[in-house]
Amino acid sequence: MAYDSNNIFAKILRGEIPCDKVFEDDHTLAFNDINPQAPVHVLVIPKGAYESMDDFHANASDAEIAALIRAVGEVARMTGVAETGYRILSNTGVDAHQEVPHLHIHVVGKRDLGGMIGRPRPS
Ligand code: AMP
Repeated sequence: MAYDSNNIFAKILRGEIPCDKVFEDDHTLAFNDINPQAPVHVLVIPKGAYESMDDFHANASDAEIAALIRAVGEVARMTGVAETGYRILSNTGVDAHQEVPHLHIHVVGKRDLGGMIGRPRPS
């Protein structure tokens, strides 16, 4: 599937809509989730046009991949969750209910996050 350059995170990257920035470097941007699920809920995204983790894995450069993982670590330290514990996740595709078709890693913490994954959707 072709990357949709009108997705909301592409608009944030182009500066067309604002974000509450937490961290930025040459390859990544991190900002607070607009609908936080925990006291800390930051989204870490690559600046490149990658739809999902699958796309990123297949097509990103080593520098982009390293930067994204380093940015997750930076965000964890900056927000204090590196000390208290945190969860990272990246919803990819339909079964994971990915809403925004630009790769994003959720970094959540500062509360008890419970079990690893939720219940299946009703059939
Ligand atoms: P996902 O279901 O993994 O695709 O998650 C998309 C996330 O993007 C959700 O947690 C939304 O709350 C978040 N989100 C959507 N629009 C914005 C926005 N403009 N700024 C920050 N976060 C957003």
